[in-house]
Amino acid sequence: MPLRKCPNCRENNEFVIGRRLQGGVRGRVVLCRSCGFGYQNPSPSESELDAYYESDAFFSESYGSDVEPTDEYKQVGINRGKSISDWLESSDRKVNHVLDIGSSYGFLLDTIRNNTGARVFGVEPAPSVAHYASERLGVPVATGMFSPAIIGNNRFDLITLMHVLEHVSDPVEFLSAVRSVATENAVIVVEVPNMLCRDDRRGLFRHFFSYPHLSYFTAITLESVLRQAGWKPLEITNIHNLRIAAEAALPTDVALKDQTSRIILYLARYQILSTVYRLRVSTFDVCRRFGRKFVVFLIGEDRVRHILNAVRRK
Ligand SMILES: [Zn+2]
Repeated sequence: MPLRKCPNCRENNEFVIGRRLQGGVRGRVVLCRSCGFGYQNPSPSESELDAYYESDAFFSESYGSDVEPTDEYKQVGINRGKSISDWLESSDRKVNHVLDIGSSYGFLLDTIRNNTGARVFGVEPAPSVAHYASERLGVPVATGMFSPAIIGNNRFDLITLMHVLEHVSDPVEFLSAVRSVATENAVIVVEVPNMLCRDDRRGLFRHFFSYPHLSYFTAITLESVLRQAGWKPLEITNIHNLRIAAEAALPTDVALKDQTSRIILYLARYQILSTVYRLRVSTFDVCRRFGRKFVVFLIGEDRVRHILNAVRRK
């Protein structure tokens, strides 16, 4: 596959931050020096991705080996549906027709339907999971990848994307297509992994990159792709993942640049260094081991403060 430009700012100014993905799979993850967006470059081809999503590997990694969801998995969907319903109520928004892209077993939609009385519709690529939603919960689901064609004439005033956008190679193009099936006053709720989250104590980048994840976001780059696709952010929460709610608006043509991108770049550089020297420790272990003074000497007081703030904000 040919190399591509940054999907956020469309510049060609990348820095390699990872060559191994989860499970030891080879891949190439880069960070845009201009805007801080992380992406696989090259991205696996469409046919490779189709084969991957149709394979048992994706199904078992995402849903376990059984078609019956685990209690934990069920609860994740219910909790997401509940928190979105609560947000709708607290912000006094009425919704009539809800679309969940990547609707999985349908628990999120079922919960929102019960709480708001809205009609719901799901799009889900895994057939057995889509079947569970329609047969067991009575949630209507179109089986396949999202496209305006699969939606038909339906229009929605709430659209949810839970851990979907990181699987997309061009988030601006994808969110623009999503915008085309939204009503004038629609809202969208998007949740993705946070590139700056330090949940994984083994390191910021090691174990974070994975084959089906083509895009890696910070709060600012997530906001940027939404704005360019015609979604104006309303609020963002940043706990383990980034969750952003946005309303339909006019698209902007300017990409936001994440000022913390250089920090990520420096952290990545140390991660690579630590791997090269087989220290088998994370960036943060390196900082701890060599002490703050050494790190300040290397990258300057300002950047250290930025890093600490970014970590505290996670
Ligand atoms: Zn960029």
